[in-house]
Amino acid sequence: MGSTHHPLDWSSYANVIDGRLSSTAQVRHSINPATGEDNPDVPVSTQDDVEEAMQAAKRAQVGWAAISYEDRRKALLAFADAVEAEFKAFSDMLIREQGKPRQFADFEMNIAIKWIRTMTNLDLPTHKIEEEGKTIVTRYTPLGVVVAIIPWNYPIFLATGKIAPCLVTGNTMIVKPSPFTPCGGLKLVELGQRFFPPGVLQALSGDDNLGPWLTSHPIPAKISFTGSTFTGKKVMETASKTLKRVTLELGGNDPAIVCEDVDIADVAPKIAQFAFLNTGQICLALKRVYVHERIFEDFKAAMIAATRLLKVGEGNEPGVFMGPIQNKMQYERVKGLYEHVKEEKLDISLEGDIPSGSGYFINPTIVDRPPENSRLVAEEPFGPIVPLLSYSTYEEAISRANDTHYGLGASIWSGSSERANELAQKIQAGTVWVNTHFHLDGRVPFGGHKESGIGTEWGVSGLVSYCNSQTLFLEK
Ligand code: NAD
Repeated sequence: MGSTHHPLDWSSYANVIDGRLSSTAQVRHSINPATGEDNPDVPVSTQDDVEEAMQAAKRAQVGWAAISYEDRRKALLAFADAVEAEFKAFSDMLIREQGKPRQFADFEMNIAIKWIRTMTNLDLPTHKIEEEGKTIVTRYTPLGVVVAIIPWNYPIFLATGKIAPCLVTGNTMIVKPSPFTPCGGLKLVELGQRFFPPGVLQALSGDDNLGPWLTSHPIPAKISFTGSTFTGKKVMETASKTLKRVTLELGGNDPAIVCEDVDIADVAPKIAQFAFLNTGQICLALKRVYVHERIFEDFKAAMIAATRLLKVGEGNEPGVFMGPIQNKMQYERVKGLYEHVKEEKLDISLEGDIPSGSGYFINPTIVDRPPENSRLVAEEPFGPIVPLLSYSTYEEAISRANDTHYGLGASIWSGSSERANELAQKIQAGTVWVNTHFHLDGRVPFGGHKESGIGTEWGVSGLVSYCNSQTLFLEK
């Protein structure tokens, strides 16, 4: 827990085990998705590395839980300041390994830091019932060792959103970044070593073996997972063997319902941005846009015009709104969906071509009223391709918006707050917005209904999700 102000060394990348940087015999690297260039080498952890980290996390947890909440809070707030001091370096790495444009890499770093501070400053509730001769106390105690599994779309923000509530409540954590975006997560945890005792915050990078090794290990009490619904189910299955707690933040198929009384010139560009932000690779991206039939054609024209203005390119180029698809696998998936849309002869209103070159770029595509059971409407594309759908009554719009096994986010767009607020309450999703979307707030719970997840992160319930509930019948 030494000096806080010397800069991090961004020239090499190691696991962080028991307070030490730890290399592995085998290494691998991800690819810069905008240029095709190799990113730095990162470790490929072995089962021995997993074992060493697990034992260290377990040892460290006892001492970490014994220090005061206030001291853990101080350490985390100092960590937030240190991340802020490395803002530019983290942002540069997000552009390089994730592919996102500068303005959104900066946005991710801002919320990543904000979430450490917000989560850390929340208080764990304690409930008391006073009776004659006794006090009944319900309090929250740490679970123990937690594994955090992070996806590639918001690699730093989604990590800090788990680290802060986990550590402040007295747990220790092993972070596993995505193999597609390992570098930033490793540096984040390396930086944490200046503030937390050895074993409290560790990081392991690896290949596809690593996730299952971590989730099947007997030591962790909880897996905090953010990723696809497909993988989330596997995590839960493995975790069930030792009844580990799980928080699962999974996929989404967010609908927007656009009422006929909107100001089209104002709303259409916003909808375009919330569909194509992060190149459509957000759990909360708008993935189905339901527009009232009376304004459908005008809205479509305005959305196409707005989408044409969204600049696609490498993240350091000025004014870029959309970077590449993050990795080859996802690029092939989105291309496959695009081919499927063409084969099905769906009505493509804005044809996003696929430029030749080394980056995984795909230009934004808008499809006019595909069938409700088409893959484009039913699946989560996780890329820059969005269906525009029309409806005639609000009842119909709500029923189609809810007709999915996902339930992460949704938004209602209307000139009438009263109408929008009323419709918002009929949506089956963890978060519903009026006249905006993807507006996150660390003070409130976030999570999915249905197959978009189990449990919530953030807010006080997010803190509690890292704890056991304990009721004490104490004598006076
Ligand atoms: P993914 O499920 O492929 O991978 C997520 C993480 O799980 C990675 O670190 C991966 O290495 C790891 N993993 C893979 N197989 C595993 C296994 N068997 N056991 C344990 N870990 C394993 O997801 P992705 O492609 O990285 O991310 C995109 C998905 O994440 C989308 O579906 C998106 O909607 C979802 N997502 C959800 C949220 C949310 O908060 N609800 C946020 C961001 C992304």
